[in-house]
Amino acid sequence: MLSSYRCAGFCFVFRRQSIVLNAGFNSKDGNFFMKENQTPALKEFLNQTHQDIFDDKSGTPADYIPELAIVNPDQFGIAITTSDGFTNEVGDASIEFTIQSISKAFVYSLALELLGTDKVLKTIGIEPSGEAFNSIRLKDDNRPFNPMVNSGAIACTALICQNNGQEAFEKILTVLSEFAGRELNVDDKVFSSENATGDRNRAIGWLLRNADNFDSDVEEVLEVYFKQCSILVTAKDLSIMGATLANNGINPVTKKRVIGKTTAVQTMSVMVSSGMYDYSGEWTYKVGLPAKSGVGGGITAVLPSQFGLGVFSPPLDKLGNSVRGIKVCQLLSEYFHLHVLETEDDVNQNIPITYDLSEIRSSRMRGQSDNETLEEFGSRVSVFELSGVINFIGSNFITRSVAEEEFQDFIVLSFIRVNRITRASIEVFRLFFDQILSKSQRVIVVDKEVVKDHPKGLFGEMVDLIKQNCQCFENLDQAIEWIESQLIAEYGECQNNSEDFSPLADQLLLKGLLNSDLETLQKNVTSIEYETGSKIIQMNEKADGIYFLRSGKVSVMVGDGIYVSGLDAGTCFGELALIAPDATRTANIIADTKVFCSFLSIKAFNEISIVNPGFSELLLRNLGLILFERLKQSNSKIIALSAM
Ligand code: GLU
Repeated sequence: MLSSYRCAGFCFVFRRQSIVLNAGFNSKDGNFFMKENQTPALKEFLNQTHQDIFDDKSGTPADYIPELAIVNPDQFGIAITTSDGFTNEVGDASIEFTIQSISKAFVYSLALELLGTDKVLKTIGIEPSGEAFNSIRLKDDNRPFNPMVNSGAIACTALICQNNGQEAFEKILTVLSEFAGRELNVDDKVFSSENATGDRNRAIGWLLRNADNFDSDVEEVLEVYFKQCSILVTAKDLSIMGATLANNGINPVTKKRVIGKTTAVQTMSVMVSSGMYDYSGEWTYKVGLPAKSGVGGGITAVLPSQFGLGVFSPPLDKLGNSVRGIKVCQLLSEYFHLHVLETEDDVNQNIPITYDLSEIRSSRMRGQSDNETLEEFGSRVSVFELSGVINFIGSNFITRSVAEEEFQDFIVLSFIRVNRITRASIEVFRLFFDQILSKSQRVIVVDKEVVKDHPKGLFGEMVDLIKQNCQCFENLDQAIEWIESQLIAEYGECQNNSEDFSPLADQLLLKGLLNSDLETLQKNVTSIEYETGSKIIQMNEKADGIYFLRSGKVSVMVGDGIYVSGLDAGTCFGELALIAPDATRTANIIADTKVFCSFLSIKAFNEISIVNPGFSELLLRNLGLILFERLKQSNSKIIALSAM
């Protein structure tokens, strides 16, 4: 297989050996240099954070479980897994340690999945205790305060034991492995060490049983609990487990759903209020991320919808949280403004571009009388071009603005430049579209996905409601063109149906022509009829004359059927041949209906002009005015769009 030794600007090929090096070539001294692989910015930042915090030797590893006391206190790993499944890891991010209390968050989500919210809430509270993780105090109703302290965790494990019997631990190990995206194992030494010294937890177990919190065998429950705390994880695992919560319960690496979205939200809620024990208030104040710590020196933190963070460093502070772990989370939160209560949305993202149709037109060229109708009645149409991410404020701003236009004939809402509509906004728009039922106002929605019933579109299942109450179009030009025809039909002098015959005198290009000249012209034009679908002009053919559209409608198309604009009777096309007789046609002209044209060849035009120079001067001046009118409309649209 041919392979190559590549470097910037050069390619050296060696047979049967593939060496791909990222090298540079210094053209000054003619030497190659090896370029460092670019380190992602975030990884660079984590490397620096790791260096800055490593020297903090404060705190001591947990020693009430003897096996935990003998770990190397200098171990220090950081990992971030984003919801797209990519992990940045530095330091000892792949060193295994026991998960300890971090398991509580994931076992709690398992209990919610297996038994449902009501059953779990009846057994375990969701209030911060303000006490140490191993406090034996229960709430007045004999429930543990929350599932993040030992009493709540043991009660939670008891629920799994009651539900899964002898397979309880296997179920817990399987689900935590799904969260991590790999098969996890137990540290038997730590398990034995805690089992031998866990009398306080046994006391909590008997207290719970005595309070009728569970009736399982206490020893069996505690064995499962000690085992779940002894499951081995790495900082990278914790980042993936956290990212699974951030990703609404779907592991972003394996792409497998582990828990439901509601369970993920409920679990993160309790992590916010109680995940860091009696440091939880200060944690929420300074870091502001759902998190859970463990005496093994781990912390997992979550930025909902964005990432999971895993940190490992055994030395703990007096509250049982990893000293370096807390510092890493606080530094990242402050530096990247990650606090969940620190938002940056504002209504300015959603101020729509608004205009009416008195000046701005669709691309369809219309006859003089129709244009006059649109100039007079176009102000009865309000167009809102929306963009960006529409949040709660934005959707309320938009629907309030629309409500203020209540006397308009038409309201156009264009979503074609909207990237996303938040869940809250979907509900605001649902209320809005529901209200339309009771109004005579016609709302036009422009959104390709709505027209195509796209299930993953902006509005999801609300598409049906929109299509029931609104006229929907794929693009704004089609929508405006349709509204123009409605206005002409309602307010126009004459019903401009395609079979109506438009007199030559109505042609803008012939405005001001003397009757005598008009009669001359009439004698020199050729009447031609085209069936629907005929190609009247072929792109790139020689421009041999100008067509006056007397009845019917045509479309201007380029390339492979790309629609540019439409023309009604009373307009003309091919007129640029007057300016550049040697030019070729710039587009195809297709008959949308049966069409009747009066064709004036360049030859006839020149013959008339020789005899009557004023004829060509008038036509060329009118052509300039027509082009000026089109330019004016384009400028009006640019001005409207510049309001963004
Ligand atoms: N297995 C430990 C215990 O129950 C977990 C404590 C912790 O990690 O906070 O005490």
